[in-house]
Amino acid sequence: MQEIIEGIIRFQREVFPQQSGLFKRLSTAQSPSVLFVTCSDSRVVPELLTQTEPGALFVIRNAGNIVPSYGPEPGGVSATVEYAVAVLGVRDIVICGHSNCGAMTAISTCMNLDHLPAVAGWLRHADAARAINASRTYDSDAHRLDSLVKDNVIAQLSNLRTHPSVAVGLVNKKLNLHGWIFDIESGTMLALDGRTGEFLPLVENPEIYAV
Ligand SMILES: [Zn+2]
Repeated sequence: MQEIIEGIIRFQREVFPQQSGLFKRLSTAQSPSVLFVTCSDSRVVPELLTQTEPGALFVIRNAGNIVPSYGPEPGGVSATVEYAVAVLGVRDIVICGHSNCGAMTAISTCMNLDHLPAVAGWLRHADAARAINASRTYDSDAHRLDSLVKDNVIAQLSNLRTHPSVAVGLVNKKLNLHGWIFDIESGTMLALDGRTGEFLPLVENPEIYAV
């Protein structure tokens, strides 16, 4: 904790004074235009990757960047999606997976999760991706994992579309969905081209989106 507390002290003394105007503006209201859904993984930092300031991104993070399908007992992720779309009026939703994801590794290697019942239950929301992954053959474990990360982003985009607020936003053309994958080693971002189902480098294809 020492490092974190020293960071807070440094933030208050050195960083905040330079951004006090921004925080003053944000002190009574927020109007982020993007809902960013990504993994809890410590190596994936949305504001750093997108070089955005406080107030720009509404963020959901959990193991495996998962959005459960909408159902009769909506949970925290569903409530946060609903609030982002129906109240804040975000125009875009990004689901961002990443390389070397622990949650996806657990699925792709059929890891025994008997001692982690909550994790096992949570990852059931990626069953569509798991089934697609299991139905294909791969020449290495690394390729199997990379493919699962992609299939999971696609599966979570499908889940997202079952949320009433998202469905309405898409029908009324007030919402775009994006599927991204961050590569930790190279720092590059891939983006799903919804027309072809391919993931392409985002910097060379800034216009593409998933849905
Ligand atoms: Zn992860």
